[in-house]
Amino acid sequence: MSKFWSPLVNDLVPYVPGEQPKMANLVKLNTNENPFGPSPKVVEAIKAELNDNLRLYPDPEGESLRQTIANYHSLKPEQIFLGNGSDEVLAHIFYGLFQHGEPILFPDITYSFYPVYCGLYDIEGIKVPLTDSFEINPEDYKQANGGVIFPNPNAPTGRYLGLEHVEEILRANPDRVVVVDEAYIDFGGESAITLVDDYPNLLVSQTLSKARSLAGLRVGFAVGNPDLIEALNRVKNSFNSYPLDRLALAGAQAAYEDEAWFQKCCDGVISERERLTKALAELDFEVLPSKANFVLARHKAKSGESLAQGLREQGIIVRHFNKPRIEQFLRITIGTPEQNDALIKGLKSL
Ligand SMILES: *Cc1c(COP(=O)(O)O)cnc(C)c1O
Repeated sequence: MSKFWSPLVNDLVPYVPGEQPKMANLVKLNTNENPFGPSPKVVEAIKAELNDNLRLYPDPEGESLRQTIANYHSLKPEQIFLGNGSDEVLAHIFYGLFQHGEPILFPDITYSFYPVYCGLYDIEGIKVPLTDSFEINPEDYKQANGGVIFPNPNAPTGRYLGLEHVEEILRANPDRVVVVDEAYIDFGGESAITLVDDYPNLLVSQTLSKARSLAGLRVGFAVGNPDLIEALNRVKNSFNSYPLDRLALAGAQAAYEDEAWFQKCCDGVISERERLTKALAELDFEVLPSKANFVLARHKAKSGESLAQGLREQGIIVRHFNKPRIEQFLRITIGTPEQNDALIKGLKSL
């Protein structure tokens, strides 16, 4: 509390990002970054942008990138909204597309930024419990609400909800926006983007941070009916007209133009996920079925906290959430084969 703070800031409860330790040689498996780097074509495209044009503002509408993403998904550019990471896109969604004054619905175990945005914009959030097997039950989303949001696959569980169930939630809420946060969709799930022409209440958000290895570039986007996109543009143009800089626009576009690299990275993560899941099961872990680039796993005897601490002492960082229902679990990002081997070896020693 400071006399200089606005009363609003005094009450904020900010998000706490996974740590980015400065130590060398860490096996860093805590923030779901992609272990395989970005396409070399992305680096080239960014270098080509490093010139005198940096004195000029970037394209406020990111038209070229929107056209590229639209083409990729067989959509129109007016169905795409760009943001400085999908976190920014989500913030604008909370502000512009949820009915403030009515509670919005999201799972009890989910991305912890959702309650933070509720606090920022003074929206009530109802935490809808996942089932005992940590799944979303569409029946639970048939109650009155001001909007619905969930990640698919969910984080930090990794569990995927089939599109027929996503449609069930969409059909139950024709007058409310249903947001599917697809940060991890490219690791084996089927995207709801194919449904946006059928459901005017559907908004899908995606990011280049995970499957396209560009967490450092900060590019995310939303896909939906032009009417929903227009609301996001109104918020954006009342906040920051240039959320994506020239380097981000160029790099993101190049990422979409290197499909082979993207596929190779996704396949690499998926095959390592299957290998790690088996290895963890052999070490007496229960591993939730994951379609993401991480797994959530609980040991039959050892506590999540002690394992996370023991790994840390060996320079291996995983995520442990001190939260109800998942405090015994570790969330482990899928690393390179070498990193995953180090993790398995570290766990064996514990
Ligand atoms: C990583 C993540 C995001 C944020 O992605 P950025 O584009 O890097 O801001 C959004 N939602 C979920 C569920 C995530 O895990």
